[in-house]
Amino acid sequence: MDLGIAGRSALVCASSKGLGLACAASLAREGVAVTMTARGKDALEAAAQQIREATGATVITVVGDITTPQGRALALAACPSPDILVTNAGGPKPGDFREWSRDDWIAAVDANMLTPIELIKATVDGMMARGFGRVVNITSGAVKAPIDILGLSNGARSGLTGFVAGLARSTVARNVTINNLLPGPFETDRLFATAAAAARSTGKTADQILAARRAANPAGRFGTPAEFGDACAWLCSAQAGFVTGQNLLMDGGAYPGTF
Ligand code: NAP
Repeated sequence: MDLGIAGRSALVCASSKGLGLACAASLAREGVAVTMTARGKDALEAAAQQIREATGATVITVVGDITTPQGRALALAACPSPDILVTNAGGPKPGDFREWSRDDWIAAVDANMLTPIELIKATVDGMMARGFGRVVNITSGAVKAPIDILGLSNGARSGLTGFVAGLARSTVARNVTINNLLPGPFETDRLFATAAAAARSTGKTADQILAARRAANPAGRFGTPAEFGDACAWLCSAQAGFVTGQNLLMDGGAYPGTF
């Protein structure tokens, strides 16, 4: 299916690796000019070059921390009027809520709630004026099925989810949709780092931890970043203009509920 977005522009945040990178790659393959961001320059440049060579798409890179006003200003200066916005940033640290200070909470809310809201605020009116816009927020399956040690993520991302639910109904008549993509376990650096940390604290090997997690998933495996990127590209497609305010969970069926 031709997704009907060739020639559009996208700002894909936190995209030198993992799920953000996969979204940038899938959009570029559809002929979208992509602006990619990350804090680390080398990985970002390497990822951008790989996408250019694979797709021939225009790829611009912006080095900066997207959770800071300066990082967002740099990203928006490079891509001031995106047709497509994919928000993403690293997830908050795990732990026990008794150990988290107000500063920990503010950092999580800043990164995983206010950063996407600020980026939407800077771009959504232009999208509505032009009659096309697609916003996809990378959140987490933890929004639907909270994970106890990820309380900072559960809380901050749920705030974003509530905000998006309201806003998404007020933009869709101008062909601007806003949706959230909720990853379960995907094969990224983050997932392998989490397994390595669990291995250190349990005495098991990282391979044992990963094998147990794969076996516990109804699909018997982890998701691949390419699957995630392609779902993002579809949510950004011309055909997806009647889908807004939704939370698309990609977890291999791990969430056990009917709805
Ligand atoms: P990842 O493989 O660690 O990649 C994270 C990417 O984001 C890197 O390119 C990183 O580059 C960039 N980044 C991180 N913080 C940034 C910041 N403040 N400003 C700009 N760029 C930043 O992570 P991932 O697995 O793709 O996860 C992406 C998001 O999905 C995270 O919020 C994570 O919590 C969530 N998630 C992932 C899974 C999973 O299974 N993978 C499951 C649930 C939720 P730099 O470090 O160079 O900045």
